[in-house]
Parts: sequence; C-alpha cells; structure tokens
Amino acid sequence: MNQKSKKVVLSGMRPTGPLHLGHLAGALRNWLDLQKKYHCFYSIVNWHAFSSDYQQFSHIREYTFEVAADWLSIGLDPEKSVLFLQSQVKEHAELHLLLSMIIPLPWLQRVPTFKEMQRELPDKELNTYGFLGYPVLQTADILIYKAQVVPVGEDQSYHLELAREITRRFNRLFGEVFPEPQTLLTEVPKLAGTDGRKMSKSYGNAIYLKDPPDVIRKKISTMKTDIRRKRKSDPGVPEECPVFTLHKAFVPREKRDSLARSCRTAQIGCLECKKVVIDTLIHILTPFWKTRRQLEQDQSQVWKILDKGNQKARTTARKTMEEVRSAIGFAMKS
Ligand code: SF4
Repeated sequence: MNQKSKKVVLSGMRPTGPLHLGHLAGALRNWLDLQKKYHCFYSIVNWHAFSSDYQQFSHIREYTFEVAADWLSIGLDPEKSVLFLQSQVKEHAELHLLLSMIIPLPWLQRVPTFKEMQRELPDKELNTYGFLGYPVLQTADILIYKAQVVPVGEDQSYHLELAREITRRFNRLFGEVFPEPQTLLTEVPKLAGTDGRKMSKSYGNAIYLKDPPDVIRKKISTMKTDIRRKRKSDPGVPEECPVFTLHKAFVPREKRDSLARSCRTAQIGCLECKKVVIDTLIHILTPFWKTRRQLEQDQSQVWKILDKGNQKARTTARKTMEEVRSAIGFAMKS
C-alpha cells in the first residue's frame, strides 16, 4: 500500500526532557505499530510546551534532541513516518489563528484540564490566552494534515471530542474541507515510578529509556513493593505493588501470571520478582541504547532527520492551507 492510500495518523509529544518507561508503554509501542499500517505524522510539539513552560524554557533545544533521539532509537522510522518539529511548520499557527476566531469561548472555558492544570501547578502562571487556546492549537495540528485517526488515551478523549466539534463547525461554515478525525482509543497502562506515585518527570521518580542498565537495576531494586510483604513468608497482592505495574506493562503474560501466583502464595521473594522485570527491560532496551549512543556521538544526524521531516510536513500543510484560504475566501487571485 503506498503512503497516499493509507489513512493519516497524527500524534505528538511535548519536549520536556528524555522519555521514560511511561512514554514507551503508553504511546511509543503503539506508534511503532501504527507506522506499519498508517501514514503517520509524529510531531515534537514545542509550541505546546511553550504554552505551559514559557517561564523556564532554556532547555528546549536539548529536550527536543532528547525526544527525537529517543524516538529514533526506539524504532520510529523516518522513511515510514514523518518526524518533525511543530514550530518549523508555520501553517499550524495560521490555522490555529483562523480556528480561534470561529470557536465560541465557552467551548474552551469548559475544558476540564484548563482549570485542573492551574490547580495542580500553582507555581506556573497558566491563566493565559495561549493556554486557554491549547486545544485549538491541537485541533490545528490534526487538521493541517487532514488526519483521520488520532491515538489518544482516555484522559485526552475530551480534547479530541472538542477537535471533532471544531471540525464540524468549520466544515459547516466553509464547506467540507476537513475529515472529522476519529479517536483511536489506546490503553495507557498506569506505571508507578520509583516512589510508588505515577511515573512522571515532574515527580523525579521516572525510569528513563536512556538510563543505563546499572541505573535501571538500582532504581527498580530500591522500589517499594506491596507493604504486606515484610518478610518473604508474607503473601502479597501484586495488584497493589508498584513494581508489578512494570511487570504488567513489560513482562509477557504467562511469566507475569506465574509471578503473581508466587507472590500471593509467598513462594517468591521481591528481589527475585524484581529481577525478572529488570532483565526484561534490559533485553528490550539493549538495541535502543546502541542506537542512542550512536546518535549522541553524531547529533547532527538527528537534526538532519528532523529537518527532512519538517520539509515533508510543510509540503502537506501548505497544500491544506491553500484549500483553507480558498474555502474562506482569502485566496489571492492572479
Ligand atoms: S513479589 Fe513481586 S509483585 Fe509481589 S510484592 Fe514483591 S515485587 Fe511486588
């Protein structure tokens, strides 16, 4: 099947630092599958990062490299997918501007994350025009490539519903320019970090893909387990063990079920159980580390790949914007 006959997928990640196991389990594994079947556009969404992190933005170039290097090392293939940097395709901004003018303000004011994020991150000044418009920019990111499929976790499904509503409004006002993007609901496993809370860079509890084997070993070996297991002879409940969230995401089912049984019947110690997930992760990540080291030694490769992706993305985005301008009546006549 050639690229033209494939459905278009759009997804993105904010460049907030190196990627961790949560990104692998929640998005990247799925992206690797999608690139086999669809024409995928994967974007490093630095304008989105700016909308919430504009007060501390000095690491943006370094973080952009980290994300792109992680993507390439895990197997995203620039020959199959378009890997690009959002701010290098200005058409996103033009479409965002136009969409922002047709969206009734209450549609944005009722987005739950707008208030939630302000409550959760009181140190950041997020009561801004740009942050309120975050879902509009997300819609522009999708529509500019006429993406038909958008993989989202449950927590993002509200944003996609809003994107669909905006699409319908645009099409009603100016004609059927955009396909209505469909949700591809993806299971995002809840992964615990080293302190038992949700794995997140901002909690400082993440296990990064680029962490070397000894660091992974140390981080997991010192993780808390089910509190019932004070001694090896105490039976545990794997569903309440933070480490077992890693087993659920990465250890094959049969092995995992057998470990769970051994935990419940106190036939295995936590160190032995942890060793299984450590070994599995080292096995999964060994080829990743090899490519990652090569890319770190020659960083220009990564920038060149992004540059090519930017050009491909621009070609599609420009075409779409021509149609949009023409539908609205902004096209210049010669
Ligand atoms: S045996 Fe495994 S699942 Fe059970 S508490 Fe220990 S680490 Fe967790």
